[in-house]
Amino acid sequence: MAALFKHLMKTSSSIHKVASVQVRYLNLLEYQSKALLDSGGVAIQKFRVVENLQEAKTLTQKVDEYVIKAQVLAGGRGLGHFDNGFKSGVHLTKDSSKVSEIASNMLGHRLITKQTPKEGILVKKVMVAESVNIMRETYLCILMDRRFPGFIIASCAGGTDIETVAEKTPHLIKTLPVDIVKGVTDEMAQELSEFLEFKGKLKSKAAEQIKRLWKLFVKVDALQMEINPFVETDKGEIISVDAKLMFDDNAQFRQADIFNMEDFSESDPKEVEAARAKLNYVALSGNIGCLVNGAGLAMATMDIIKLHGGEPANFLDVGGGVQEEQVLKAFQILVSDKNVKAILVNVFGGIVNCAIIANGIVNASRNLNLNIPLVVRLEGTNVHEAKRILAESGLQIQPASDLDDAAIKAVSCLNFETIVQQNKHMRDIKTSGEFNRNCVSRS
Ligand code: ADP
Ligand code: MG
Repeated sequence: MAALFKHLMKTSSSIHKVASVQVRYLNLLEYQSKALLDSGGVAIQKFRVVENLQEAKTLTQKVDEYVIKAQVLAGGRGLGHFDNGFKSGVHLTKDSSKVSEIASNMLGHRLITKQTPKEGILVKKVMVAESVNIMRETYLCILMDRRFPGFIIASCAGGTDIETVAEKTPHLIKTLPVDIVKGVTDEMAQELSEFLEFKGKLKSKAAEQIKRLWKLFVKVDALQMEINPFVETDKGEIISVDAKLMFDDNAQFRQADIFNMEDFSESDPKEVEAARAKLNYVALSGNIGCLVNGAGLAMATMDIIKLHGGEPANFLDVGGGVQEEQVLKAFQILVSDKNVKAILVNVFGGIVNCAIIANGIVNASRNLNLNIPLVVRLEGTNVHEAKRILAESGLQIQPASDLDDAAIKAVSCLNFETIVQQNKHMRDIKTSGEFNRNCVSRS
């Protein structure tokens, strides 16, 4: 999708704005997306999902040809490979006895594609579907765009490498704004169908499928519905062969069934825990744990830590309506990362009441027996009360006057910690309370 998005950026500034805000966006696996398409009357192939070899061996339904597909939250599977050397996350076979052999090469192995991390993603589920004889592969994607607010992208050159099509032959891609209230009209559906070069009876069949996809897109509060390939078969059918759906997190309250389908097995457990507590958390590789309110301030905090020679261990935005128990949760998540050697709290209280943060910090420090340096910079609403709470707590908390000061203090604690570790006296020093006092004196 990366190149395709670059192409879209030129046509839509608002997509860029949406993408730059730190949000989670629910993604579903292909088989889950397809079940939704089916419920919306969109034509898909019949499929089963297997999680182990036994299930793969006992598939009874006979079909002319099977397609076996690894289920991971990433595209590009067809062109991908596994960590065991097995090529491609999408296989076709006419021999039913080969299904379990292929599945065994996928299940429990990591699939590496253009869209996965370098080490790939562990495959825990495999889809076994009835294959279709594809005559032509096209591309269809519906996106939310704040200007229209709907947006359809179509290309007659669908298949595994739409990114290259977007980059090298952009004229093969059509973008069509859709009025969210009027929806996709018959004329628009026909226009798209024609652009996708469906001929004769197929033209109206494809138009009907496009209208159903749009209806479903609106009904399920999707942000993205990518069908690649959207195909024409030898039997004159129009089928959505692959589907990737992404949903608006703000719609979670009215799409409970869909959000309950979320598969967390590929996520960092700390990120899952944070999401449950309504915190935005992204794990990074440094050692200064950050607790911040607002995505902008979080970014600025990360930058300033780096500027002073440190490395943030995470991005943790507690948001605007944060409550005391969320602060405790945030600390629990931070200290569960063994790389975190110092914590920096940087909160600018606008909607947030600094006193709530201060009480949260005090509670968390006591409950968790926090024994790593803690630097706190609070500013804004009720800050005087907040500072009083921290000062009277009797805890070793280092106040910071501004962002620079906070980052310098956090980084210098870290340097000190490293020295202490080298001297192998850390435990004694920490329990005597000298550790944090030393930090203060050095900063
Ligand atoms: P990905 O986009 O992750 O590579 P797809 O599901 O799009 O995975 O599959 C890649 C390619 O495999 C498709 O473009 C198509 O050519 C082929 N393919 C996938 N499913 C089928 C199927 N049911 N029948 C025939 N070919 C298929
Ligand atoms: Mg695909």
